[in-house]
Amino acid sequence: MSNPKPSAPGFATRAIHHAYDPYAGEGALNPPLYLSSTYAFPTVEEGAARFAGEQPGFIYSRVGNPTTALLEARLANLEGGEAALVTASGMGATTSLLWTLLAPGDEVIADKTLYGCTFGFFNHGLAKFGVRITHIDLTDPENLARAMTANTKIVFFESPANPNMRLIDIAAIAELAHRGGARVVVDSTYCTPYLQQPLALGADFVVHSATKYLGGHGDLLAGAIVGPKEDIDHVRFRGVKDMTGAVLSSQDAFLILRGLKTLALRMHRHSENALGIARYLAAHPQVAVCHYPGLDDFPQRELAERQMKLPGGMLAFELKGGVEAGRRFMNALRLITRAVSLGDAETLAQHPASMTHSFYTQEEREAHLISEGLVRISAGLEDLDDLLADIAQALDATPKHSPGGDYCY
Ligand SMILES: *Cc1c(COP(=O)(O)O)cnc(C)c1O
Repeated sequence: MSNPKPSAPGFATRAIHHAYDPYAGEGALNPPLYLSSTYAFPTVEEGAARFAGEQPGFIYSRVGNPTTALLEARLANLEGGEAALVTASGMGATTSLLWTLLAPGDEVIADKTLYGCTFGFFNHGLAKFGVRITHIDLTDPENLARAMTANTKIVFFESPANPNMRLIDIAAIAELAHRGGARVVVDSTYCTPYLQQPLALGADFVVHSATKYLGGHGDLLAGAIVGPKEDIDHVRFRGVKDMTGAVLSSQDAFLILRGLKTLALRMHRHSENALGIARYLAAHPQVAVCHYPGLDDFPQRELAERQMKLPGGMLAFELKGGVEAGRRFMNALRLITRAVSLGDAETLAQHPASMTHSFYTQEEREAHLISEGLVRISAGLEDLDDLLADIAQALDATPKHSPGGDYCY
């Protein structure tokens, strides 16, 4: 029998070991947590060489720290990118990247459905400084071919999109964007690098809210950007250092390194629980529609199978009875927690129309495909039977019919 010897270590092995040698230094199994805001230069000449980028070495923790640097090396490896930069939040990642890449007169083309605060940054932040924001439906790549202009610098989207689970074909969009000279940024928070690898599909940058699955335990806020080294250096030395200051603390980097050790395991359990919940909801008479990439009748099932390793831990559904049914269902939940955020061990439910997307007008919500009765669930790591029992009792407490008919899209 020959020894099993894979040519490159697998994902879980790299998530636990990449770029750290426990035999070096003091022999600590866990990478040390460096709590230092600044770093000593042996001589002024060496300090100057570090500032010039001619010599490796830390300068000041707004541009780098050994604990955050290890997390960056690991995330770049897991995403299959050249370099990574971790930030104080997912919003810190998106804002630092786009403030660095864009100038007045440039255009961003974004999907119609975006995380609420990303929508806010684009339309209330970038737009104020002369960047044109165009929202189109990127689920049909032909729409991008028609919308691109000479000024289009960035194409930005999530897949699956938060909160309505629409998928976007990363490879098709990347090809069209590159043909027109634009670069592609994918917010891959819902998937993590375990489920989806946007860079291998042609995207230029991946951004994450590491607050979610990468941290995985709901105890911190963090973000990450992965992309070409030259660009990541610019984002580090201009975007974060001079513009946003959205620096991740090394203590939070340490916790994310801990979270990454179980990422692959957790994503399997999140997916299993989400599939169980989605199947239950899809078959329930009070549910108009359930959106989950793992369901056989999910409209983009073929794309889900091509682009994602597992269907993931997020799902959304529409109750017959619209907004009021949504509110009653939410308030009847006992085990499942009413909360925003996602990717935690605890199963969380939220109602975008009254929570995350409440600062959109109703017209804006309609334009961005967020219906009034949509409920989003982040499947946690509990026992599926307990989650289903909670959903069953909450549905029992929800009105059975809708005066105005079913509302779905
Ligand atoms: C949470 C989230 C963000 C923002 O991340 P923060 O860490 O909360 O700043 C961005 N995109 C998606 C898809 C998210 O779920």
